[in-house]
Amino acid sequence: MTSQGSRRDGPTKPTRRTFLSAATVTAAAATVAAPLATTSAASATTTGGGPSGPGRPIRPQSPDRELRKLLREIDQRRIEAIVRRLAEFGTRHTLSSQDDPARGIGAARDWIYEQLRGYAARSDGRMTVELQSYIQEPASRIPVPTRITNVVATLRGETSPERIYVVTGHYDSRCTDVMDATSDAPGADDDASGVAVAMELARIMATRRSEATIVFVAVAGEEQGLYGSGYLARQYKAANADVQGMFSDDIVGSSTADDGTRDRRTLRLFAEGVPTAETPGEANTRRSVGGENDSPSRQLARYVSDVADNDSTGMRVRVVYRRDRYLRGSDHISFLEQGYPAGRFTEPNEDFAHQHQDVRVVDGKQYGDLPEFCDFEYISRVARVNAAALWSLAQAPGTPKGVTIVTSNLTNDTELRWTRGTEPDLAGYEVVWRETTAPEWTHVIPVGDVTTTTIDLSKDNVFFGVRAVDTAGHRSPVAFPRPGS
Ligand SMILES: [Zn+2]
Repeated sequence: MTSQGSRRDGPTKPTRRTFLSAATVTAAAATVAAPLATTSAASATTTGGGPSGPGRPIRPQSPDRELRKLLREIDQRRIEAIVRRLAEFGTRHTLSSQDDPARGIGAARDWIYEQLRGYAARSDGRMTVELQSYIQEPASRIPVPTRITNVVATLRGETSPERIYVVTGHYDSRCTDVMDATSDAPGADDDASGVAVAMELARIMATRRSEATIVFVAVAGEEQGLYGSGYLARQYKAANADVQGMFSDDIVGSSTADDGTRDRRTLRLFAEGVPTAETPGEANTRRSVGGENDSPSRQLARYVSDVADNDSTGMRVRVVYRRDRYLRGSDHISFLEQGYPAGRFTEPNEDFAHQHQDVRVVDGKQYGDLPEFCDFEYISRVARVNAAALWSLAQAPGTPKGVTIVTSNLTNDTELRWTRGTEPDLAGYEVVWRETTAPEWTHVIPVGDVTTTTIDLSKDNVFFGVRAVDTAGHRSPVAFPRPGS
């Protein structure tokens, strides 16, 4: 285990998270060379601009060779072809024809299904594709019983198949009137772009072996009220499935705002604070000791920044501390409602002339969600961010479970406990911490392959978390502890 410190030690170039001086980093790196057992006990104290305490400054995880290779396979031309093909179905409104071979949501559903089946054919049986259907009885924005169908491609994990990560785009579309099922609704940005991201990821991951399961879904019924994703999330919950992360890619097609401003290197990630599915007991704990900024979804968002905001994606991940934009929602909410960590990716600035609009020209200005307003190079980078996040999650150990901050006695140090994971390549654990006012984890303390540790730092003054590490140095998302004994 002692060699692990040096293996974990990545490049020492400064990052946006490194706030300590270079001299301090060097000192901290020297500490890492010490055996893990003594690292936690020795209280290597940092100095300089940040808070002092045990451990070393945390650094982003850099992509390994396999991930870099995977990211290079994302094909902008294929993404463009998918968006244009989906727009050609005229409308993909949830209430549009389900049996017209050329126009309507049924034709789009069948085309997506055939594409995904083609990708799965190259997977040696690891990827399966299904049409997941149910009949939605009349409800808000659904006037008559309507078949809602998700197209689901599942890449089964090799060593932790029960652990699941999900990415979705919604293939239904709309025009100005949300009940208009016949007018043209090309839905290029909203949300052929997100479907293209999920499909392109399915294509490049189908030929690979993943440790955990990754699911790529084109969901329906989003514009009518998140019906398809609601069904998908409820099916997982009913099966007691261990979904540890979900991303909705919705409106990821353009980098241009309505005033013409372009921002081609930023992707927003909306992540809730107080969990949608928080129980009264959890709310009481949060009111007592904090944690508004430490929901599982926030940890997931921090993880995405950690692995995907770098030169391999060419993107900055702008995490927004909200569940979604004002007046808007997306399919991640269906997963949040079932208690699963989830977030929504969306473009940096929107142009509302090209969302939810009839295709028309007014005073010389073109309205409508047409492919000509998409930036396919931008969508390719969005796909890279998603790929980096999903692939890293699925190759790392799962988020630690049962993480408890021991509160049976009043003490000025911190005792943490957790349950050991079952991954065959699990190497051990790291404790992370930060000032309660800091938005991101700042310090990391390797503690080795143990399930309990005591840190010489008061739990009253900082926030702690625990993450798992595998033999290749992949880290899991952080688990935020609950008080207990
Ligand atoms: Zn949408």
